[in-house]
Amino acid sequence: MALERTLSILKPDATRRDLTGKINARFEEAGLRIVGQKRVWLSKAQAEKFYEVHKARPFFNDLVGFMISGPVVLQVLEGDNAVARNREIMGATDPSKAEPGTIRRDFAESIEANSVHGSDSLENAAIEIGYFFAGTEIVA
Ligand code: UDP
Repeated sequence: MALERTLSILKPDATRRDLTGKINARFEEAGLRIVGQKRVWLSKAQAEKFYEVHKARPFFNDLVGFMISGPVVLQVLEGDNAVARNREIMGATDPSKAEPGTIRRDFAESIEANSVHGSDSLENAAIEIGYFFAGTEIVA
């Protein structure tokens, strides 16, 4: 088992419905410790840069609009195989296709407003954590 860190975001649909505690409980019960956490309202520029890889996709503008429609909670999760473990408990991007018991199946509103983001690789996790967190903001 490898101790890893991954970037998690509780998206605006989750903060709006006060689901942060319930979702955080899922992480902790799955062995993912929240070693960094802050509630922020992203700027358009921040959201565009974060989702840059999807710039050419038809859903890009709507996605950016959604991500800046309310506050988000940025988190660093740490645990054994944290990247894959988090993706597992998040469930598929489209909540209607997510496994029962996953965060997205249980809480998401739509394929866009799907409650959580989680890094998809260890390499991206390091980039995404560095984008939002200073080293001093992560306390294991
Ligand atoms: N998304 C969307 N429409 C789509 C696909 C994705 O609005 O058809 C949004 C959704 O919020 C998703 C994010 O874009 O979480 C990033 O998409 P990705 O394919 O990277 O999915 P994820 O890694 O978040 O499961």
